[in-house]
Amino acid sequence: MNTSSIRFRLTAWYAGLLTLVYVLFAALLMQSVQSYLEANVLDTQARRARQIAATLVTPLAPEAEATLGAQVKALYSPELSDRFIRVTGADSSVLYRSGEPSDHSFVPADVPPAPSTWAQELRRKQALPDGRALLVAAVHGGRDATYTVEVGVSTASIGALLRQLLWLTALGLPVIVVVAVSGGYLLVKRTLAPVERIASKAELITHHNLAERLPVVRTGDELERLAISLNHMISRLDDAFQQSKRFVADASHELRTPLTVLRSELESLAHHPPPASDPYERLGSLLQPVERLSKTVERLFALSRLDAGEAQTEWVEIDLGELVASTAEQMLLLAADKGITVTCEAQGRVMVSGDRSRLKQVVVNLLDNAIKYTPARGAVHLRVAAAEGRVVLSVEDSGVGIPAEALPHVFERFYRVDTTRSDATGGAGLGLAIVKTICDAHGAAVRVASALGRGSSFHVTFPR
Ligand code: ADP
Repeated sequence: MNTSSIRFRLTAWYAGLLTLVYVLFAALLMQSVQSYLEANVLDTQARRARQIAATLVTPLAPEAEATLGAQVKALYSPELSDRFIRVTGADSSVLYRSGEPSDHSFVPADVPPAPSTWAQELRRKQALPDGRALLVAAVHGGRDATYTVEVGVSTASIGALLRQLLWLTALGLPVIVVVAVSGGYLLVKRTLAPVERIASKAELITHHNLAERLPVVRTGDELERLAISLNHMISRLDDAFQQSKRFVADASHELRTPLTVLRSELESLAHHPPPASDPYERLGSLLQPVERLSKTVERLFALSRLDAGEAQTEWVEIDLGELVASTAEQMLLLAADKGITVTCEAQGRVMVSGDRSRLKQVVVNLLDNAIKYTPARGAVHLRVAAAEGRVVLSVEDSGVGIPAEALPHVFERFYRVDTTRSDATGGAGLGLAIVKTICDAHGAAVRVASALGRGSSFHVTFPR
């Protein structure tokens, strides 16, 4: 038996508690029964003593003391009824004392005299030298209360009754404990049965069957909450696992395309060597897939580092206006090549806290997209503004725009609105995913608004 199991500990605790309560209750019961019986017996003795005092002792003339014993014996036959009767005179002389009772439950000569001072009536439990006890009631009688009448009875019958009661309660204890323990054990076993089922089901869940769920017993207690919480956890694990599976599949796909191009170009070069006049012309065409490959690998690497939590390593206070202006300046050439004007607007020093190189990456990716997806002679406008305790970075362009149905997906990894459009510009659908991951790590919200054919605007809102 597993003594540290909940089942054992709960059952043992309740069995112990029940035994303690039962024993205390039994002790209290014995005590009360004993007090009640003794009081009752003393009542009877007192009544008898008063009766004797009234009928015999009071009218007694001093000369008739000699016949007292005979009268009491004749009227009450104390020995036959196992009773003790003693009549004592004013000078403490014993006028009458009953003989040995038929059950030999006490020795009359051993009963000590009543204490000298007491008022109307005295009731006492008198211990005898041989260890037994007598319940004795004493009253005064005779003219001027010169006599003391004592009537008593042994406690033996009460003792026998109490012993019987003790036996009965002692026999009841194991019965009650066995019933309670087995009932409690079964109840705890039944209550914990769902835990067994949850555990065995949980053992069977692996990455192959993450769609399965643990059984939920509608008990409305902690067990139901535990099963529901565990199921939510499995759901989150399932999502994360599916996401990472998709990520690996998409990444392999993205890497395969330029690798296939490279391979076929290299095969054709091997089979048809370039003319001796210009050996480098065809080699130049190999650069495009290599560039795309290295850009994809670079972005994958950036994402995996962000996933590992590297965006939060070097947090400092940064002037976002200055960061945006300097980044835009570095990318002016790219825009100029396409004949696009880039303007920048910042309201003085606008501070945010974060990782400078990561935030720069956000600006680069948004600006790079704006330039990429804006045709010649278009315009890109960057703005950094502080309002209502927040800092907002906006990148607006007059480019091709994004269709409404694509807007909710543009921040997903490997999502591209139009693959032909992106292939031409070499994107793998990771730029905005990187922006979103960095923003999340900085507690910033990024949103997009766009009108097809008229342009798009991206807004990053930083908490101050
Ligand atoms: P990519 O590297 O392919 O550009 P992104 O994650 O940066 O990937 O963007 C996802 C998709 O969102 C792109 O395929 C593109 O079609 C669309 N997109 C992003 N920025 C803009 C923009 N400024 N204007 C129009 N379309 C955009």
